[in-house]
Amino acid sequence: MKAIRRFTVRPVLPDPLRPLSDLAHNLRWSWHTETRELFQAVDPETRRTAECDPVRLLGAASAARLAGLAADEQFLQRLAEVSADLRNYLDGPRWYQEQLGRGVELPAAVAYFSPEFGVTAALPQYSGGLGILAGDHLKAASDLGVPLVAVGLLYRHGYFRQSLSRDGWQQEHYPVLDPDELPLTQLREADGTPSRVVLALPGGRSLHAHIWQAQVGRVPLLMLDSAVEENAPGEREVTDRLYGGSSEHRLLQEMLLGIGGVRAVRTYCRLTGHPAPEVFHTNEGHAGFLGLERIRELADTGLGFDAAVEFVRAGTVFTTHTPVPAGIDRFDRELVARHFGDEGELPGVNVENILDLGTETYPGGEPRVFNMAVMGLRLAQRANGVSTLHGRVGREMFAGLWPGFDAEEVPITSVTNGVHAPTWVAPEILRLCGRYGGSPGRWDGVAGPWDGATDIPDRELWCLRRELRARLVTEVRERLRVSWRDRGAEPAELGWIDGVLDPDVLTIGFARRVPSYKRLTLMLRDRDRLRALLTHPERPVQIVVAGKAHPADDGGKRLVRELVRFSDDPRVRHRIVFLPDYGMALAQKLYPGCDIWLNNPLRPLEACGTSGMKAALNGCLNLSVLDGWWDEWYEPDFGWAIPTADGLAVDEDRRDDLEAGALYELIEDRIAPRFYDRDDEGLPGRWIEMVRRTLRDLGPKVLAGRMVAEYVERLYAPAALAQRAMDRGAARRLAGWKATVRTAWPGVAVDHVAAEAPDAGEGSAELGSTLMLRARVALGELDPDDVEVQAVAGRVDAADGISDAQVLPLKPAGGQGLDGRWLYEGPLVLDRTGPYGYTVRVLPAHPRLATGAELGLVALPAKTTADGGAGLLMR
Ligand SMILES: *Cc1c(COP(=O)(O)O)cnc(C)c1O
Repeated sequence: MKAIRRFTVRPVLPDPLRPLSDLAHNLRWSWHTETRELFQAVDPETRRTAECDPVRLLGAASAARLAGLAADEQFLQRLAEVSADLRNYLDGPRWYQEQLGRGVELPAAVAYFSPEFGVTAALPQYSGGLGILAGDHLKAASDLGVPLVAVGLLYRHGYFRQSLSRDGWQQEHYPVLDPDELPLTQLREADGTPSRVVLALPGGRSLHAHIWQAQVGRVPLLMLDSAVEENAPGEREVTDRLYGGSSEHRLLQEMLLGIGGVRAVRTYCRLTGHPAPEVFHTNEGHAGFLGLERIRELADTGLGFDAAVEFVRAGTVFTTHTPVPAGIDRFDRELVARHFGDEGELPGVNVENILDLGTETYPGGEPRVFNMAVMGLRLAQRANGVSTLHGRVGREMFAGLWPGFDAEEVPITSVTNGVHAPTWVAPEILRLCGRYGGSPGRWDGVAGPWDGATDIPDRELWCLRRELRARLVTEVRERLRVSWRDRGAEPAELGWIDGVLDPDVLTIGFARRVPSYKRLTLMLRDRDRLRALLTHPERPVQIVVAGKAHPADDGGKRLVRELVRFSDDPRVRHRIVFLPDYGMALAQKLYPGCDIWLNNPLRPLEACGTSGMKAALNGCLNLSVLDGWWDEWYEPDFGWAIPTADGLAVDEDRRDDLEAGALYELIEDRIAPRFYDRDDEGLPGRWIEMVRRTLRDLGPKVLAGRMVAEYVERLYAPAALAQRAMDRGAARRLAGWKATVRTAWPGVAVDHVAAEAPDAGEGSAELGSTLMLRARVALGELDPDDVEVQAVAGRVDAADGISDAQVLPLKPAGGQGLDGRWLYEGPLVLDRTGPYGYTVRVLPAHPRLATGAELGLVALPAKTTADGGAGLLMR
């Protein structure tokens, strides 16, 4: 029989157990081992710690069990300790407060927007890396004491759960999530009614949303939910699922996230007295409409559009996460136009102005498209990619928005991602490092016990690695059995599963979403060679694979099926498995149990990649293409780099062959021999040494605490200062100045450059000598105060391109000449030998610009001459 209505009966906890409810509603339990262990004691049947969900667990506990615990002195003592620890964690000063105490100027609050958050498997509101990174960002911000308010959507079906059909085709299921059964509380007004935000939609409709709050340590996460009675049936579906539906559906989700999100933050601050954010950070372009809502807030007070843009830009940070075009949201302009303006949202903001913000003005741009990343860059004065390599790739990708500038000067910096160790590291690893003198104690997000790895005896480290591998083997067998039952197998057919994987065999993990650039099936390129590796008589390897394809991506599902079918083969099924439903719960088991973490994307499409970092923190070595973070921190002590054929003139097929060949070779010749190279005691000494180096030297770099501290110091703090210095007058003046400069720029020119060198011969000069540069520049309607004139000098290539440029401001000398030109001069010290060159350029200059490239305006000499003009070459 089916119920016609469902609701949740909340447990009534006996008084002495009341603190359990607070512990259950702060997601800190998800990374605090002692709290999780306490909940396990409530219901010792809960074996799967990673999946333990205290809210459900308390809901399911019998009244008798609860009464028993309420009288259990030992349990109450533990409860008191864990509660005190949480209170201390929430109230005590942390890194951020220490910085403030030293007089560092930091934002009063930061609002952090993301379309997905992966905080715990118990709150399944993520699809992959972007969401998990956002979750780790919140946890690290909490550990550091950063006053962050996070904003997202509450998807009633989350992302899909994956299972397999008999023949290996991905099946999708969408769980129904009831917020009353999740670790959430509803944000309410003082009179108890639910707080809400409302958006106007075309045709007189409106979109209502309620606000749920998850507490992530010290950080509140506000989630907007459109499944409310006030909405018409269509609007109720807006927050139905993550990354599904039509373009219009996506647009409505993003409007709710960005515009509704700002309104939710305002509501939260009003109700709780939380300081208003001085910085707004958008994690990828999906939340970019937040900038428009802030412009609307200012337009309401009579500030014009351009001035409002300047005001908003000062305090906005935009992070781009992918160089893959499919990862960037682009909408039809008509669709966007229809949803804004007098008929829709943001009345009072001119629709044409909005459309301009998302226009792809660069060569090859699509005129009918509204690009969320482009808008993100225009509405944020500070932007970044997520690894050093991705920063470079991002600057090239978006260089067209700053015409006239070399890619290096495009104002997109990078902050390399990190991962939240307490979430991802097996507690046994942390404890072992702590026992050997690693700075343990309170986890403060920056330090960690990694230095302890130096003194762990080989035997102990290896025993723990084996134990973690053995635990994974057990987990894999259990999951595989469930998967085969789902595929329709009878228990009697599944006896072979007890022999799947071996706790002493070299274990390779490969788990990720399945977009084509990640190349799930590269390892299948030469099946015979792979089979030989798996079944090698002395040095076998075993592989655990997992990954979800996007529901609309049949190509990805075919890759999954290929892998599943290969691993169904009785010849290899004991050595290679595909586990369905890759998510946080599986990931937390997988990383610690693997010896090698494999990553073989098409370089440079993996912007950062974080799974390899999580693996490394557990003492797993990386085997990866030099892409994302691995390009930056790879060392031979930490693993292996798969040689790549990117940049070579080979087609994709050939490239896959070459790179797969290199992958097999590394495993055959280097990795397996090292793993199985044992001493008299049976220990692989050189392998253990690599594990130790990975923990000790790589560990501290890949932490989310390092990442968030970098965001604070390099992006949030400067953005907050810029925002504080901004008021309506300043915004108006800055917008007016930019308009003037843009209009006058055609009149700006570098007319003549001369260089005087006492000893310069024909096209050569001596190291250490000084050139006196003089440039005549026309400024048209502008004043010298509006510009900076610079010499740009450095080594030149065969085409006279300057690399490693050094930038030297030239000074005005004398006033304006009779011809209306201004004279600028300055010394250029020749400090490098070899081909050398320089040029002179004029840039707009204003104290409120973050970089000279901000306006995308530059004036260069009209032509390059070799005799005393710009571009003089010395060889
Ligand atoms: C870390 C993680 C990811 C991201 O991994 P990449 O290396 O960036 O592909 C995806 N899904 C889960 C469940 C993760 O834990």
